[in-house]
Amino acid sequence: MKAHDGMYIDGGWRPAAGGDTVEVVNPADEQIVGRVPAGTAEDVDAAVRAARAALPGWSATAPAERAARLAALRDALEARAEEIAETVTAELGSPPKLSQAVHAAVPIAVMGSYAELAATYAFEEKVGNSVVHHEPVGVVGAITPWNYPLHQIVAKVAPALAAGCTVVVKPAEDTPLVAQLFAEAVHEAGVPAGVFNLVTGLGPVAGQALVEHPGVDLVSFTGSTAVGQKIAAAAGAAIKKVALELGGKSANVILPSADLARAVNVGVANVMSNSGQTCSAWTRMLVHTSQYEEALGLAATAAAKYGDRIGPVVSARQQARVRGYIEKGIAEGARLIAGGPEAPRERGYFVSPTVFADVTPDMTIAQEEIFGPVLSVLRYTDEEDALRIANGTVYGLAGAVWAGDEAEAVAFARRMETGQVDINGGRFNPRAPFGGYKQSGVGRELGVHGLAEYLQTQSLQF
Ligand code: NAD
Repeated sequence: MKAHDGMYIDGGWRPAAGGDTVEVVNPADEQIVGRVPAGTAEDVDAAVRAARAALPGWSATAPAERAARLAALRDALEARAEEIAETVTAELGSPPKLSQAVHAAVPIAVMGSYAELAATYAFEEKVGNSVVHHEPVGVVGAITPWNYPLHQIVAKVAPALAAGCTVVVKPAEDTPLVAQLFAEAVHEAGVPAGVFNLVTGLGPVAGQALVEHPGVDLVSFTGSTAVGQKIAAAAGAAIKKVALELGGKSANVILPSADLARAVNVGVANVMSNSGQTCSAWTRMLVHTSQYEEALGLAATAAAKYGDRIGPVVSARQQARVRGYIEKGIAEGARLIAGGPEAPRERGYFVSPTVFADVTPDMTIAQEEIFGPVLSVLRYTDEEDALRIANGTVYGLAGAVWAGDEAEAVAFARRMETGQVDINGGRFNPRAPFGGYKQSGVGRELGVHGLAEYLQTQSLQF
């Protein structure tokens, strides 16, 4: 795999300040596919200075011109779609079809949506005797995870650039190669020097330096709750703006009137996709007692179909973590009906598609984000019980409701404490706000709501 040995700063690839590197491993076969520099506080400082220097020019650039650069960036990504898919397959281990259909295609769609929004958004509005200007927040420090490595970068960089902000990205250490490809595309799209900068490296070193840098005005982070808490505390101490996307434990609520087979099959597919490494995955399936045994049969059959079709999880560490959760589920009394903790292959960080029955709401596997191909099936006695269970975690990112009647599903969904709900299998919408209630985070990504995160207002009174 192609790998740059420098940082993309101020419009070019610059040598890193230190000599350390991060190895990139293909989780499917455990082979090293590349090495990238491990950034230090010095690299972060150079990147933030470049972003600060570029801010006055980019923020004053007419929205139509910013839109033109984003459209060019969309085209540059599209021209690289095949290379993007191959790179994500190599560093994340996702099957080629998923890499093409999701890891490459979704960021292109999101970039396209921001090219349009930059051109059409009302950056100025009239409110009574005031004119309100929507201005860029400033320099953005973006820290991203590995699960959808390019999407997570684009979901931050596209709205930030559309708003007129400049950006420094610190991508996940497991998946930095697609981030470097993105920097190449930015360059090719003619985005001015310093507007986008990339520093690869480790979270506690490069990531932390970015969060703490006084030249950063807003930190946008996606990843674990533990790191999110640290970042929010550091940003709070410096009165920096912060956006956090911290994952979830979403409920798939199947009401008795639903098409049970469809709801279970789509639900299992949702959890197994991307090997379970999706923050909005419906990892808790809630089924009425009267249909519970039938649902278990369907879920076990559906999970078995994924046996050798899903890719590995991202790393040996993640594999150990997921297997640890499966063991904990067994120890706490849940019943395995598919999969289990044993590694299904000798080589590669694979985890068997796993389904647990007899899961109760207080169990660890019903409360904590596992981030692997593990589904918990819970039973409920009536709608109030289902709602209590659905809302009974610290998270509130996503969810699903199935019912024979759409209005019945909507009525239930409106009582769920969560940021997104798919009604009877509704499709992902890259323009709908994505983000969490409760500990799933602060702020929203995607669409016009995602753009607003990177804007602040100045009102002039007349
Ligand atoms: P993480 O939170 O450690 O890493 C996410 C990003 O934060 C990476 O770029 C990392 O380098 C950076 N980072 C780590 N420590 C940092 C620090 N002190 N300061 C600044 N940046 C720092 O996530 P992980 O270890 O890769 O995954 C652990 C768990 O997090 C997963 O099992 C999963 O439950 C959750 N997760 C959630 C999402 C999501 O989309 N919400 C994505 C990935 C992981």
